Amino acid sequence: MSLEDDLGDWRRSHYSSELQGMDGREVTLMGYVSSIRDHGNIVFVMLTDKEGEVQIVFKKDGSSNLPEAESKVEPSPSSLSSLSPSPQSLQSSHSLFSKAKVLKEHSSIAVRGVVKSMKNAPKGIEIIPREMKILSLARSIPPFSIYSKSIPLDARLDIRAVDLRRHYLRAVFKIRHNVLKAIRAFLDEQGFIEVNTPKMISTASEGGAALFPIFYFDREAFLAQSPQLYKEQLTLAFEKVYEIAPIFRAEPSRTNRHLAEAISVDVEHAFVNYEDVMHILEGMVSHVIGYVKDKNREELDMLSMDLVKPTTPFPRYRYSELVDMLRREGARIEWGDDFTTEHLKALAGILKGYYFVVDWPASMRPFYTKVKGDGSYALSESFDLMYNDLEISSGSTRINRKDELIARLKMQGLKPESFTHHLIVFDYGMPPHAGFGLGLERFLMTITGIENIRDTTFYPRDIDRLVP
Ligand code: ATP
Ligand code: MG
Repeated sequence: MSLEDDLGDWRRSHYSSELQGMDGREVTLMGYVSSIRDHGNIVFVMLTDKEGEVQIVFKKDGSSNLPEAESKVEPSPSSLSSLSPSPQSLQSSHSLFSKAKVLKEHSSIAVRGVVKSMKNAPKGIEIIPREMKILSLARSIPPFSIYSKSIPLDARLDIRAVDLRRHYLRAVFKIRHNVLKAIRAFLDEQGFIEVNTPKMISTASEGGAALFPIFYFDREAFLAQSPQLYKEQLTLAFEKVYEIAPIFRAEPSRTNRHLAEAISVDVEHAFVNYEDVMHILEGMVSHVIGYVKDKNREELDMLSMDLVKPTTPFPRYRYSELVDMLRREGARIEWGDDFTTEHLKALAGILKGYYFVVDWPASMRPFYTKVKGDGSYALSESFDLMYNDLEISSGSTRINRKDELIARLKMQGLKPESFTHHLIVFDYGMPPHAGFGLGLERFLMTITGIENIRDTTFYPRDIDRLVP
């Protein structure tokens, strides 16, 4: 004997967010049970759907459940084991109540009932049910409530699909959706076209960074750590391109800001330099935040985020300037050293919000980065976009002359022969170009206040986790 019903011809008539001002109307709602309060003769079930939640009130004495007009409807003889498939049928109050009694949190249900204003109910509305289908009865209870925020990460990630039902995480991913939407709208408006480049590649695009090897038929290949070389090549035909896609990095470190698989927003633009793309990047960041602030009020409230649309231009600091600043603060750092976590924390104590660090030593940047023509050749036309102590983007003017590129490859210990298919493009009039890569998850951390990058991605991948 199954307690579960088929969907049959039932379909949702409304979302929980659409019930205001519908007093007395009959609706069909679908969703899952997010909480149950059982007071013996009365059971309050919270139904959550993708738009929100609404309370369903099951009373043992079902007749008193129903508004006058409705209670005159003849009850059908349906029972727990044999439900009438007719959508018009009204289950006996007894069977309806018994069904409510067997419900467990997370079960999927469909409820037909009447909307009733009720001051004390969440959002001032409750549903007086006439019929319910249990579409899928939960068999186990997850080790966490969907309402709580502080639960050990590993316990949650093991059943991530259920974890993602939690309200604050749904808020994060609803915001993520709008971040992507706003990025695309912004870049589209600026005349960029969206491209896709291969994720299975034969050589490293940047050298250095750890690659994941894969089997490619009978050869070794790698997962792309960045679309860098392809997006540069595509400026030849399209001038302004962007890609939103995974990057793969075999990061052995366990930090709150590194994933083995992340989503990168990559932009490349012909006939401009790094200052022009910094202008695009800050414009994009500000636009996205303005959009989210406008469209995701409820989600931002849930995350207790008082988002402020940053004004542009963002402050710019030269790398050398920050090294001096750190030294004045007593930090030990030599010109040419990368900023350590401690350095970044110290900087974030002084520099707040979004800011650029520009003109990095050429030796610290990838081979394709253009060196500054200031005579010293020690600096590069490059930048990082920071938010407090978090790097969210790196970019630069790229080298567009083949001989210069080959020289820089060699200088960084890379073999030009491994880049034959890339270098050949530079024989065909490669335009000057510049671009950046922005980490989507890190950007989302700055918007949502989420401190662990794993909670800004659906199924995080890191050195310890390859499932689910
Ligand atoms: P970091 O120094 O923080 O490891 P990076 O300088 O190696 O980052 P880039 O190669 O500059 O990273 O990549 C551009 C952007 O892509 C970064 O600013 C960041 O936002 C994002 N990104 C890079 N690696 C990762 C990663 N492992 N996990 C999540 N995001 C990443
Ligand atoms: Mg970087």
